[in-house]
Amino acid sequence: MKVFTILGARPQFIKASVVSFAFRDAGIKETIIHTGQHFDSLMSDVFFQDLDLPTPQHHLNIHSLNHGAMTGRMMEKIEELLINDKPDWVCVYGDTNSTLAGALVAAKLNIPLLHIEAGLRSFNRQMPEEVNRVVTDHLAQLLFAPTDLAVKCLEKEGIFQGVHLVGDVMMDALMHYRTKANETSDILERHKLNNNEYYLATIHRPSNTDERQRLRSILESFTQLDLPVIFPIHPRTQSLIEKMELSKYLTANSIVPIPPVSYLDMLVLESACRCIITDSGGIQKEAYIFERPCFTLRNETEWKETVDVGWNQLVQPENLSEAVANFTRPSECPKLYGNGDAAIKITEVLLN
Ligand code: UDP
Repeated sequence: MKVFTILGARPQFIKASVVSFAFRDAGIKETIIHTGQHFDSLMSDVFFQDLDLPTPQHHLNIHSLNHGAMTGRMMEKIEELLINDKPDWVCVYGDTNSTLAGALVAAKLNIPLLHIEAGLRSFNRQMPEEVNRVVTDHLAQLLFAPTDLAVKCLEKEGIFQGVHLVGDVMMDALMHYRTKANETSDILERHKLNNNEYYLATIHRPSNTDERQRLRSILESFTQLDLPVIFPIHPRTQSLIEKMELSKYLTANSIVPIPPVSYLDMLVLESACRCIITDSGGIQKEAYIFERPCFTLRNETEWKETVDVGWNQLVQPENLSEAVANFTRPSECPKLYGNGDAAIKITEVLLN
């Protein structure tokens, strides 16, 4: 069996590393296309160095364009490769423009499509990711849902066929790499951080970064917290902070700005922090799995189950310090994301 996998962004490299490993183990031949959506070495190369992810056979080098141009150019190149290679399946992850481009081309060429992390919904169509997810799910023949809620969301849209509840591949990745992270990462020593004595923050969604007033109030809210905030800054956010002349906040005593970190360093930062402040999808789940309180700077989340069980709160910057101070740890942390065997289950379904 031949699978064409289309990747382009940081969280996709992490998810694909465990699935690619399972594919190889099962004798599935995989060709990886890297669209280039994330191109910075700290957003891309570092993941290929640290994780069990083979070097992509094709690199399209398409990035830094508006959504339409980016998706269109990716489609053109992906189409050429798929026509040449004629794989049995196309595999896409999550909700980026690379996901959408791969899904549309596969559908046009009548090549069956496999979507990993299917059924996620924020119900906010203003998010580019929401549009990408909805379209991809409606085009896929095999939909691997991470949670019960994701299966229900697909059912509400009339998608019943080909849906498999397998758990979350990010849970697989976290379980697979946490020991290696603890053994090899020196991020805590490098930044002189003690267990439970710092907050970890990441921000990169356009709804938080593209408008100056919003970005300013987020940075200001970090300065009001009672412990240092370790802030690995996404390149988009970094350039917008500079463009909007907000860099003075990064020199505030309480904020420790650092470049994006490797996945192994991130796992260590997440597991040792007091709590996490983020707008990332993946990091909300990782916070939960590490039993760290999470404060999500958004109006809604597609990982709603973490909010329902009390470990994640949707907050606005104005309420952040109060929410952090008043947080009470829930007594339970039920298993929401499976047993770490999602990649194996996906492979089994595909082979059958
Ligand atoms: N991550 C990382 N280094 C960082 C920030 C995030 O390795 O500096 C990892 C994080 O642990 C998670 C994934 O990247 O596994 C989340 O990606 P991101 O927040 O970029 O995207 P989203 O999940 O929101 O789509």
